[in-house]
Amino acid sequence: MRLTDKVTLITGSGSGIGKSTALLFGREGAYVIVNDLDAAKGEETVAEIQSNGGRAIFLQADVTDPVSVKNMVDNAVSQCGRIDVLFNNAGISGVGALHELEPEQWDRVIHVNIRGVFLPSKYVVPYMMEQGGGSIINMSSCIAEIGLAKRASYAATKGAVLALTKSMQVDYAPYHIRVNALLPGTILTPFVENYLKTSYDDPEAAIASLKGRQLSNTLGKPEDVAQAALFLASDDSKFMMGSPLYIDGGVVFG
Ligand code: NAD
Repeated sequence: MRLTDKVTLITGSGSGIGKSTALLFGREGAYVIVNDLDAAKGEETVAEIQSNGGRAIFLQADVTDPVSVKNMVDNAVSQCGRIDVLFNNAGISGVGALHELEPEQWDRVIHVNIRGVFLPSKYVVPYMMEQGGGSIINMSSCIAEIGLAKRASYAATKGAVLALTKSMQVDYAPYHIRVNALLPGTILTPFVENYLKTSYDDPEAAIASLKGRQLSNTLGKPEDVAQAALFLASDDSKFMMGSPLYIDGGVVFG
């Protein structure tokens, strides 16, 4: 097992990639702190980890709210003693070319996807400094490196997360904290299913076109990203610092 007794906090782990990662970390021996805005979904993740013999608790918090995030982090440390791995995974989609977006729509995506990395990191980093290290994984996207239609606000956030990852790595390397980013291609999760349903008249045709964009000619699965998160969380990646890790079926280089 690659995460025996490591304490791991995964934001947005009530669904999709976060949930799949929480289940995998639980199987790998971690104590998993499941966070989500949606308590019912978060509790389901915890129940699944526990039914597989793993250890997990649910802590509800909105990653955009400083009070809520600080309480979650302090509570996690008081219950588990430390936080070895922080996976900043929670995020929302944003659809539209820039001129089509209302300022409020733009702000919401920026808020969740960037502030949602800033706040959990802000409150976890001091604990990691004190305990002598840790691993932070930030959820970017391959959209940070390729142009895609009608994804202006979302692309801006994922590019920002990649830049933030590098900056954080420089600041925290002296404290033995590694900070790396995941850049998935299209992964079939509720997030993507919802985007397809609301943005296309023919979601099946949209799926076919998305598959065609990836050299693999398939869409990714949440487990594909979870395996990459496990690598970044574990000491197997100890020489990776400030790096982007692509899990995209070849879309960036295709
Ligand atoms: P998802 O919608 O299945 O899961 C996201 C979870 O985050 C949900 O459970 C949701 O309740 C939670 N969440 C949303 N806002 C929150 C908040 N303010 N506070 C706490 N929790 C909140 O989505 P997913 O596809 O698993 O995406 C997870 C991450 O991966 C996102 O950051 C997304 O941008 C990124 N990503 C996804 C894909 C993809 O193709 N699915 C590709 C690249 C990157």
